Amino acid sequence: RRGRALERAASPAATRDGVAVAVGANVGSVRDAEQAAAAGADLAGLVRTEFLFLDRSRAPEVDEQADVYRRIAAALGGRRITLRTLDVGGDKPLRYAPGPAEANPYLGVRGIRLSAAHPRLFAAQLRAVVRVAHETPVSVMFPMVATVAELLRARQALAEAVRAEGRGEPAGLLVGVMVEVPAAALKAAAFGRHADFLSVGTNDLTQYALAAERGNPALAGLADPFDPGVLRLVGHACRAAGVPVTVCGELAADERAAAVLTGLGVRGLSVAPGAVPLVKEAVRAVDLAVAGPRAQAALDADDADGVRALFA
Ligand code: PEP
Ligand code: MG
Repeated sequence: RRGRALERAASPAATRDGVAVAVGANVGSVRDAEQAAAAGADLAGLVRTEFLFLDRSRAPEVDEQADVYRRIAAALGGRRITLRTLDVGGDKPLRYAPGPAEANPYLGVRGIRLSAAHPRLFAAQLRAVVRVAHETPVSVMFPMVATVAELLRARQALAEAVRAEGRGEPAGLLVGVMVEVPAAALKAAAFGRHADFLSVGTNDLTQYALAAERGNPALAGLADPFDPGVLRLVGHACRAAGVPVTVCGELAADERAAAVLTGLGVRGLSVAPGAVPLVKEAVRAVDLAVAGPRAQAALDADDADGVRALFA
């Protein structure tokens, strides 16, 4: 029985009507990647590269970064890894990339904004990404992007890293943008013209859509990713993007999320390693002929509880 469960977990998942949904793992260390592989993840849908940068006095060199990215890919048996560029700033300061004190760190110099402000730091990370992308399937994605100009500048920096590595364009390299800022969700059509995929980070998207700081216990009831306002942003992104849209926020691991999100058009989910087998089973239980119309109806619900009631 255990062998059968492992086999199911390791097999790709599709809805009952046969639509494939990639189920990846969110990883923040090589150890996480090992767990993701054991749990049957199809890929690493989000590698939070911050762990390499925090709690040290100097940035990691290109070689050290490449070595860790390589080990993550190896732990996953050569499955695709989605390297998110450094997502710090504001509440997660770096000693070697200082910025001014901010009254509202979540609205400050974080994610791609911090990388843009520290081009050498960004360039080194992109060289490590490109180096490993010559060896194994790699996607790279940029966090906290609000404007197309930010994405184009990041792509420019990536193109410079490709030139600096001197081996041409890595064959399997895909470039994605995270959708965490409501304005970015609404501009999905434009982002889709300049990216291979969009990855919705529902943790931040929820905090910004509802103006409710994530992790603030006084606002826990408000910061609900099932809020129809949040789901409308996700649904719009799926309809407008013209490229695959995936979700890598905590919402993706909720037992009801597979039906809601695939019903809206999401075709990839990335969750904590331990949640991979259950999310695959949830995907296999989805009938899109039912979930599609139900997800549309959910957009008109009064509130998050109304959405959950529809998918109970
Ligand atoms: C998110 O914001 O949903 C996300 C996946 O990124 P993080 O949780 O690392 O901010
Ligand atoms: Mg985020």
